[in-house]
Amino acid sequence: MGEIEGRVFASELDKNLIGKKVSIAGWVEDIRPLGSLIFLTVRDVSGFAQSVFVKGNTPPDVFASVKSIARQSAIVIHGTAKESKAKDVRVEIQADGMEILSSATHPLPIDPTGRVGSSLELRLDARALDLRNPSIAALFKIRHVALQSARKSLIEEKFIEVNTPKIIGQAAEGGATLFPLSYFGKKAFLAQSPQLYKEQLTLSLDRVFEISGYFRAEKSHTRRHLNEFISVDIESAFSNKEDVMKVLERLVKNAIEGVLEKCKNELGALNMRLRSPDIPFDRITYSDAVEELKRSSSRIDFGDDLDTKALRKLSKKHSGFYFIVDWPTTLKPFYVETKEGNSDLSESFDLMYGYLELASGGTRVSDKARLEKRLLDSGLDLRSFSSHLEVFSWGMPPHAGWGLGLDRFMMVLTGMKNIREVVLYPRDRFRLSP
Ligand code: ATP
Ligand code: MG
Repeated sequence: MGEIEGRVFASELDKNLIGKKVSIAGWVEDIRPLGSLIFLTVRDVSGFAQSVFVKGNTPPDVFASVKSIARQSAIVIHGTAKESKAKDVRVEIQADGMEILSSATHPLPIDPTGRVGSSLELRLDARALDLRNPSIAALFKIRHVALQSARKSLIEEKFIEVNTPKIIGQAAEGGATLFPLSYFGKKAFLAQSPQLYKEQLTLSLDRVFEISGYFRAEKSHTRRHLNEFISVDIESAFSNKEDVMKVLERLVKNAIEGVLEKCKNELGALNMRLRSPDIPFDRITYSDAVEELKRSSSRIDFGDDLDTKALRKLSKKHSGFYFIVDWPTTLKPFYVETKEGNSDLSESFDLMYGYLELASGGTRVSDKARLEKRLLDSGLDLRSFSSHLEVFSWGMPPHAGWGLGLDRFMMVLTGMKNIREVVLYPRDRFRLSP
């Protein structure tokens, strides 16, 4: 079957079409026989449409079969658009034909109308069907618009979109646990970030960004970690942390405004009240955060990481978007520059939303000798970094950048509390399918 002649989407059924021949393709949501009439609600990607089959106007075999179509089957309805008498429908289809393209076999694993609730686990097992629920589909339409706006924002600031390898030969950055794999008999790994590549690219392409999936073999099973996640990364030549923080603020604001403009129905379906944030975002230093926590009787010292408990405590006072800046050097990777005159502190920032870390970034070490020292101080082997270090002899510009977790940002845009809700097919320690 090819394209359906006269196909309109449910959302396009309006007064302009009255009297015209139209077809609607979608899935059967509901069937209500009423004597010589049958009302059939069909859903497509854009919304719902009501169709009416009248005995006598519809071929008898079609009329007889409409009543017994299994809900959620894929069908096409042919007919004429006409004004509706129903309260909540303006234009409906007076049907004169119907084809069942593919019947749904019951019982279905979940009810995609959402009338019968299902656990997240069951929904993820049947994700393709789950997405027929408009409020679930809304999450991914918002994700699409947020991504589009993020790209637009970066392109307008002269960033070039790049793609770097996801199979890497060296456990480059240390830190997070990598997934190993066998690469023609050699050991290789799945990339945990594009860090070293994006830094290298600043010496020729100046400003680069990449949007891609990354992999971390962390065993932590939380509502904000997955083993595969999407990161929006930038790296910018002739820039420092202040410059790239501004790029990040603008991207966040633009993405939210894009969603507000283009996703009114989707936000409505989620009961989500989103508003455009004021920029610049508030800032606290890591040291201030530690002092604050000490005052609220937390046992924490300078140099300790801010764990979930600490971040939850902090978020009682700091809501919405804010930066935590000037982290201890020991808590940041070797490629993050230290503060002039105080090598205990780094030129770094995390973008937070309440307790949730959304992004990490900073000014990078661009001097080769200093980078070698930082590698050694971090207990890493210079030989594993020889090809990366060589690049720093070719006129490496000062540069800065960040990585923004797209899935976590989606939690903010949609109000979802579990990262699995905003990822189509999440990967965690216990889930490798579908
Ligand atoms: P966390 O401390 O929350 O585990 P991180 O500091 O290890 O995160 P970074 O290496 O700074 O993470 O990565 C940059 C961003 O990528 C994070 O701020 C976050 O938004 C996202 N991110 C990192 N790890 C994950 C993960 N396992 N699942 C989802 N998003 C992640
Ligand atoms: Mg981080």
